[in-house]
Amino acid sequence: MTTAELIALQRAHKQAQSDTTVAYRRKKLNQLRSALKGPWKERLEQALWEDFNKNAAEVDLTELLPTLDNIKIIRQNLKRWLAPQKVKTPLPLLGSTSYTRAEAKGNTLVIAPWNYPIFLSLHPLCTSFAAGNTVILKPSELTPKTSEALKALIEEIFEPQECAVVLGGVPEATELLAERFDHIFFTGSTHVGQIVMEAASKFLTPVTLELGGKSPTIVDASANGYEAGKRVAWAKFTNAGQICIAPDHVYVHRSQLEAFRKGVKDAVKRHYGDDPTQHPDFVQIVNPRNFDRLNSILEDSKTEAGIVDMGGTANAEARKIAPTMVVDPPRNGALMREELFGPLLPVFSYTDLEEPLKEIGTREHPLVVYIYAKSRKNINYIQRHTRAGATAVNMSLLQIANNFLPFGGVGHSGMGKTNGHAGFLEFTNTRSQFYQWGPPINNFIAAPYTAAKRKIINFLLKNLY
Ligand code: NAD
Repeated sequence: MTTAELIALQRAHKQAQSDTTVAYRRKKLNQLRSALKGPWKERLEQALWEDFNKNAAEVDLTELLPTLDNIKIIRQNLKRWLAPQKVKTPLPLLGSTSYTRAEAKGNTLVIAPWNYPIFLSLHPLCTSFAAGNTVILKPSELTPKTSEALKALIEEIFEPQECAVVLGGVPEATELLAERFDHIFFTGSTHVGQIVMEAASKFLTPVTLELGGKSPTIVDASANGYEAGKRVAWAKFTNAGQICIAPDHVYVHRSQLEAFRKGVKDAVKRHYGDDPTQHPDFVQIVNPRNFDRLNSILEDSKTEAGIVDMGGTANAEARKIAPTMVVDPPRNGALMREELFGPLLPVFSYTDLEEPLKEIGTREHPLVVYIYAKSRKNINYIQRHTRAGATAVNMSLLQIANNFLPFGGVGHSGMGKTNGHAGFLEFTNTRSQFYQWGPPINNFIAAPYTAAKRKIINFLLKNLY
């Protein structure tokens, strides 16, 4: 089937899809859940190993578990989310009742990135399907084995008129974006997010943009620098730093710098041994283009000020870059030009909290501001003086695992939210419903405005508000 035929098929099916029952949607999601826990588990693990040496335990932990958690939350809450929600009625509207109802948007398009290819594809797909939409998923071309497996999985569970996968890269995505959808859910880079939004504007299609950026971490004077170093290292070097919410760079109060550096080094050694590039649990850089991009940032940074305090080596054949920490590089040097999205960690020391706050304020709003601190006063101060999609205090990454917490960016890191009910609302139109049961207010106060009616209006003006 061509893409044009698939789109026509889903358009023709739009009404029937929104008419499907909660029981039907739950049945399909149950089938997907069983497939992920059973016969498809190994196939997906294998595909991700072939794509970028992501080990099976990490696939289970960071791809399958969060996908299953999302399905569980949908199954438990769908009926309630779809039920009409009564809202209050103001006094002048006595005789009426008002509700909101989450209505399916219609035909939706999901474009996914490669870095968590299962989770970031199936999470929005399941949520959109549960809302009563048809879905076309375009996974990434950079993880071809996983994308092929996803296509086969979706074809096994869903009818093409309800959910389907279109494989390919930029040309295929461009072809899809030229078509009219009722919602586009895009996860990827800020640059491509702009392309998606421009294409969507032609039809005024609403978009959710889950983008990237440089998420900073502040390690305050009141923090436990050693513990912060360990936690930041885990978050930064998992998936070789190829995580949208990885700590991109760190500002460490001078009093905590030594402890922080030691914490990072100890954690890397504990997780990946003396030579992480040889360790099977340390994943590859996804493709040669991204390897070259990161390697040239690394090489450029070596020619600049700053101390390469750990790592600094790269193995092109294995497509691996050692976990690298550079202390006090130039504030506008190679490491600070763009989102790193790799295992390079610039660390800046500071003496006055205003320094990092000022720098963060000059950059685009990030997905997350991470804070390591014990002082409540400083935690609140940092939150109030920065803008971001989220804040996580004394931990990194784990905030995304709470499906009850809306997830999304602000400004250049994105718009709209995903996760739980917030994600469900993204795929629905909150339709307002107003029912007049008794005599309406205009029976009493419409023209001609007699003296008696003016009295009523004046009474309302004086006493109601
Ligand atoms: P990307 O923007 O290059 O690609 C994402 C998707 O867009 C892919 O399916 C790709 O085929 C498609 N695409 C690429 N160029 C396109 C074009 N010109 N027109 C239409 N579609 C196009 O991103 P990526 O390299 O796959 O992922 C890395 C980026 O994604 C990072 O910036 C990261 O921060 C971000 N990201 C964000 C989140 C989040 O939830 N906010 C999650 C994961 C990754």
